[in-house]
This record gives sequence, structure tokens and C-alpha cells, in this order.
Amino acid sequence: MSTFNDLGLSPSLLRAVEEQGYQTPTPIQEQAIPVILQGKDIIASAQTGTGKTAAFALPLLQHLSGQPSAPSRCIRALILTPTRELAAQVADSVAIYGKHASLRSTAAFGGVNIGPQIDRLRRGVDILIATPGRLLDLANQRAVDLSKVEILVLDEADRMLDMGFIPDVRRIVKQAAGRRQTLMFSATFSAEIRQLTKEFLREPVCIDTGTRNTPPDAVEQLAYAVEASDKARMLGHLIREGSWKQVLVFTRTKHGADRLTQKLERERIAATAIHGNKSQGARTRALSDFKRGNVSVLVATDIASRGLDIDQLPLVVNFDLPYVPEDYVHRIGRTGRAGAKGRAVLLVSSDERHLLRGIERLLNRAIKPEIVPGFTVSPRMSNNYEPQQQRRPMPPRRHAMPPRGRHPHQHRNPRFARAESH
Ligand code: AMP
Repeated sequence: MSTFNDLGLSPSLLRAVEEQGYQTPTPIQEQAIPVILQGKDIIASAQTGTGKTAAFALPLLQHLSGQPSAPSRCIRALILTPTRELAAQVADSVAIYGKHASLRSTAAFGGVNIGPQIDRLRRGVDILIATPGRLLDLANQRAVDLSKVEILVLDEADRMLDMGFIPDVRRIVKQAAGRRQTLMFSATFSAEIRQLTKEFLREPVCIDTGTRNTPPDAVEQLAYAVEASDKARMLGHLIREGSWKQVLVFTRTKHGADRLTQKLERERIAATAIHGNKSQGARTRALSDFKRGNVSVLVATDIASRGLDIDQLPLVVNFDLPYVPEDYVHRIGRTGRAGAKGRAVLLVSSDERHLLRGIERLLNRAIKPEIVPGFTVSPRMSNNYEPQQQRRPMPPRRHAMPPRGRHPHQHRNPRFARAESH
């Protein structure tokens, strides 16, 4: 295993890494940093939680530090992200890793006033972290010039594709047509992603750390059979009985997130929701309330949760099962990080059995829902699963699971529309 010292990073970056307390590079960092430092394009499979931000930010900072700055309004590095939250978090990370490098970075995303972003760009920015729509607005207003971009990062390219941003990304890439290095990160390698690789990258090096679709080993998965109408009551019960704190709960829709938050609050459980209909201010507030422990439950849709940098969550609840099995892996990737123990809970209704089967196939593991007496279960479920022993305390700490097998990359389930819907 290599150390950060072996990767070819400059002393000022190594100092920043050391100040963060990182001891050894993660697999994506170990593999990507030397290749990026050689100036090559890369396509890397990495999801949030793997340390991918440092994997591109450190070599990017190093490259820019060694070169003269560009004319005003010209940015030198552009990082595109699908969501505002991810843009803000990547910008924070770039500021942290670049603490001892004299480079200027800023984030630009929609949902907030454009004026201050224009002012900031006028004063000079080397590294811009942006969502595609707002960046095009800025470019159309001639607040930013992309023609001198030296490094372009497409972060979570698969999510940008799912969210319909690729036409915008194409327009942006056309403007950043100079001699540039392009780094693309994607959790999945669909045919569409491979097509984009051909379009945007030049002789890319493919980096696959093999962690795709593999839930962290430290995550214990618990499933309960319960009908949709009784899920909120069961969740309230589990939270109270288990004295759960810092629970991230996933719902499929924005309305579902709001409805669940209200139900939990009626049960005197402090909860807040984060989704695409909330203003940027409300989302930032919800996240910081949750991080500070002011609310114990954060209810999120998949899109809103994407890229949230919440470390070492003890519990992730799948209130609704996701339509796309890969989303389950993203969801539970929030827990059990960095060696910490985590638990993923699934509330499975009878009409979600096929979604559970999709997840089981992807993970190559059986996940058997337990039946908890006192909660509504359809006969279609109770015929298949045994009731939980009455005397067993709630929630059970363990759930029987066969040993973990190799994850089969070949199991690619058809992708469904996954935009936030109502
Ligand atoms: P990311 O996948 O970039 O969102 O990073 C996930 C988390 O891992 C962040 O909180 C980082 O601060 C942290 N992290 C990144 N690299 C390392 C490392 N080499 N050692 C320990 N933690 C790290």
C-alpha cells in the first residue's frame, strides 16, 4: 500500500492532507492521483464516500499551482456537479486541500442570487465548481470565460445524465474547447456513460477500484415487512424503541418526504426534509441542523441526498425501496464509512417485493424481511416470511443473513426513470 508521500504531491498539499488527519490514500486516490499528475484524461468509477474529491482535487491544485494565472474572467479549472449540495461540498473540500496553495476557488449554483457569483468571478477565480444550468447562465451573461479551462472535472457524470443535464454539459464542453485535461467520475458505466467518455475524453485511462455496487462490509442490513400505510408508524416505533439518533431516511418522492416529516413531528420526533422543492437556504439549514444534532431524522430523496457529505452515520433507513437497485448502494454508502459500524434498515411493503429482489440480485445476498407483530402486513408477505418472535426486543440487533458472496458486476438491472416525482 502506498502513502501520500509516494504519490508525487507537493509539500503544501501533503501538509493540507496531513492536517486533515488522512493517513493513507484510499484506493481511488492511490490509483488516480499519479495518472492525473501525468496530465492524462481519466474515467473513474467512484461514488461518494470513497475519497474521490481529494483524488481529483489534489492533482488539480498541484497542476494549477505550477502554472501562471489566466486573464480575468477566465477560469483555469472547472468542476461540474449535478447538485447544489455537491457543488458546495466539493468547493469546501477544494478550499481545505488548497489551503496552502495560493489559488482562488468558488462555487456557483442555482437557487441563490446570481449577483454575488458574478462579482466573485469578476474579481478573479482559478477554480470554479458549478452546476451546469447556473454555469450556462453565467457564461451567457459573459461573467465567465471557459476558453482557457485547463482541467475539466465531470463529477457524478451518471447522475448528471439521469437528471437530464447532458445537453447543458455538451454546451459547456464546447466552450471549454481549448487544450484541456478531462476527468470523469461515475458510479456506473452504462452504455450512455461509455458514449460520453468517447465524446468528452481523449485516450482516457480507466480506473476501476472495484468497489462499485459493493455495500461497505461494516453495514448490517435489517429488513421489516410492513405495508405502506403503516410504515410511518413503524419507523416512529423503531426510532423511539431503539433511541435512534442521526437517522437518514430515504423516500422516493418529495411529497413522501414532506408527509413523513410531518407524521414524525406529530409523534414528537424532530425531523426535517431535504429535497428539490426546498430553497437552497432551507436545504443548507436542514443539513446543518441534522449535522449538529438539532434534529434526529433527516428525510431525503435520492437526488437531494446525492453527494451529501455526512460522515459515519449510524443508520440509514429505506422508507421506500429505490426503483434502481444501484441507488440502494448509494443510500447505504452513507453508513459504515471509514471502518465505523453502520446499519441499513429496509421497510418492505408487499408491492415492493420485486424491488427487494433486484437489490438481492445486485448484492448477491438474501435480505429476508422480518414481521413485527402489531404492524400491518399483507398476506402476500406473511405467507413468505416468518413472524418475529414476540419476546424479541425491538429493534433486533442482528438479522440472519447468508455469508456474503462476490458481487456480480454482470447484474445490471434496467434503469427506470429516476427523477424526483410526486
Ligand atoms: P468523498 O468520497 O470525496 O466525498 O470523501 C468522503 C470522506 O472521506 C470525506 O469526509 C473526506 O474528508 C474523507 N477522506 C478522503 N480521503 C481520505 C483519506 N485518505 N483518509 C481518510 N479520510 C478521507
